[in-house]
Formats: sequence, C-alpha cells, structure tokens
Amino acid sequence: MSYHSRLTYSPLTLLKEPLTTMSKQLIDTFGRIHNNLRISVTDRCNLRCTYCMPEEVIFLDKGELLTFEEITRFVQVAVGLGIDKIRLTGGEPLMRRELPRLVEMIGGVSGIRDIGLTTNGILLAGQAQALYDAGLRRINVSLDTLDPDRFRQISRRDGLDKVLAGIFAAKKAGFHPIKINAVSIRHFTEPEVVPLARFAREHGLEMRFIEYMPIGADHWERDKVYFAHEIMEQLEQAIAPLVPVPDYDPRAPAMEFQYTDGGGRIGIIASVSRPFCLSCNRIRLTADGKLRNCLFALDEVDVKHLLRENAADETIADVIRQNVHVKWEGHEINTSRFIKPLRTMHAIGG
Ligand code: SAM
Repeated sequence: MSYHSRLTYSPLTLLKEPLTTMSKQLIDTFGRIHNNLRISVTDRCNLRCTYCMPEEVIFLDKGELLTFEEITRFVQVAVGLGIDKIRLTGGEPLMRRELPRLVEMIGGVSGIRDIGLTTNGILLAGQAQALYDAGLRRINVSLDTLDPDRFRQISRRDGLDKVLAGIFAAKKAGFHPIKINAVSIRHFTEPEVVPLARFAREHGLEMRFIEYMPIGADHWERDKVYFAHEIMEQLEQAIAPLVPVPDYDPRAPAMEFQYTDGGGRIGIIASVSRPFCLSCNRIRLTADGKLRNCLFALDEVDVKHLLRENAADETIADVIRQNVHVKWEGHEINTSRFIKPLRTMHAIGG
C-alpha cells in the first residue's frame, strides 16, 4: 500500500488553499505540528549491532554526504517553518570529521533552541570536551550491556571500555542530561535491564529502554520485543517502585518515570506496545540528503539536489511542507499492513 492512500479521510486534505500559503508551521493532515529534526551526518558506524545493521555494508561515498554548509542551509530553511529542536545522529555521528564545527554552525542558526546527539560512545572520550565547547549540552549514549563479552556479541565489536570512558568524559565535560539508550530484546538484552539501571542510578545518568523495532537487518518478530510493562515490573521488583515524573509529557516519545526512593528517573520508548505516532513531531534528514517524514517511511524526498543547485529558500521550504503534509497516520508495526522500509536504521539515522 502506498502511504498516500492512508490519508484519504483526513479533513485537512479538503482545504482549498495552496500549501505554500497555508501555514508557517509544519503541520500535517492529522494536525501534528513538527518542530523536531533528526539529522544523520554519516551512515558509517564503528559497531555492527545485530538489531541495527548487517556486518557487510556498502557505505555512501564521501561526495554523497551533505556538507556541513548544506546541512546548515537546510536547518536555516527549516527554522523558518518552526523547527527549533535538532538531534544529530547516524550511523555513528562521531565518525564524521569535525563534528563540533557542525554543532557550532547549527547552534548559530537563530531560532534553534536545542541540539542533542545520539552516539554509541566509542569515540566520545576524545571528543566530549570539544563538543561541549561547541555548544552541545544533551547527549544520548547507546549501551546495551555492561559485560564485555555480551557487548561483543551484540555489537560484533569490542569497545565497552571505550564507551564507559566516553560516558565519564561527557560527565566531566558537563553534559546534562546524559541518557543511556538500551534496546529491549527478549532473552537477549533482558538480563541487562537491572544492571544497566543500577549503573545509571549510581552515576546520575538517565536510563532509557527502547522497545526493539523492525528496522534492522535481522529478522524481527513481535515475540522478540521485551515490552515496556515487563521492563517496569523487573525494575520495580529489583530496585524500587516507579511513578510518572511530575513534568510528564504525554506527547514525548519516552514515557518517563522516577524511582520513589529518589534514585533518579528512567524513560521507556514503547514504539511497539504504545506507539506515539499521533503525537509525532519529527522529520528526518538522511546523510545523503533525503527527507523522511517517519522512521518507517517507504518514500523519501531528495533535497540534496536542491541544496547543491542553490534552489531558493521557498522552493526547499515547499518540499519540506509537502513532505510533512503527506505524512501517514502511523507506522502500523502492530498490523499485517506493516511494510519494513528498505533502508536499515544505520542508513536512515536512528
Ligand atoms: N550510532 C549511534 C548510536 O549508536 O547511538 C546513533 C545511531 S543508532 C541507529 C541510534 C539508536 O537506534 C541507538 O540507540 C540504537 O540502539 C537504536 N536502534 C538501532 N536499531 C534499533 C532497533 N531495531 N530497535 C530499536 N532501536 C534501535
């Protein structure tokens, strides 16, 4: 099924006004306002997490990647449409040379109020201070286990010591918050839940569990997802009761809880058991300049040629508006209609 066919009943499609004059905001036919842009800066990665990507990969040529200037130009146009929150990701974003320079360039765009980074942490120890000095404050480090052998099994590479050094370097540099992302897979990462949560509590980090999604190179089955309520039960039994945080935002992807003993907070991204599509406010720009209105989108729009041909701001803005306008209702992971995108997570930008 083409995703356009899922939009048939949307009331806003009946509006007669042309898209260009409709709104300064990026609003789709379900009324969702988009202010959040995830930018992948490379598809390369120094790990090979089994749930994310295959061992053998043909990466993009350097010339196919958007330059920092092109990315910044895109951000400038997107800010005019209400984008004010950016997350840099990949692939592994710290493999892109001079990333702090990009942070500085994006931070200099008037209207950007928040920049975050998602990294596997392998190269973080050497870059944390430079990233902080460039203006980055929020960082998410992906870490699925504290056991070196399990780390190798999950990521097909060594490097747990480097990731831990990266987390401590980020703490030392002053990053706050530092969130630790772990993918939640039944039997696989299930035994890691409590040790990771304890580690996060001990070091003042926020642990976040992400339900395993059908977006990697491996064979996904719903039964393999270790669900949000099971994670909660495990944590409450082993550590302490959890209650929703007072500033709980029901529209945010992560459901956030705090321990009743004052030992910090955790987040759970329940993309499978509790999809948050109806409050989605995100668009994505891939490293090779494709605009996607959903992680699971089956179509994407090329904006690289517009940026390279120096197209007018309004032309680029129209493409962004149109891409948001045709956004589907949701990913439908839980239905037989779900179609897995051709690109895996590393090539889209997680
Ligand atoms: N390399 C960086 C990192 O590891 O954080 C950024 C890119 S990575 C694709 C972003 C996030 O996506 C990571 O936290 C990773 O664990 C998560 N991820 C990858 N494949 C996933 C899957 N199949 N289900 C849920 N999360 C996944």
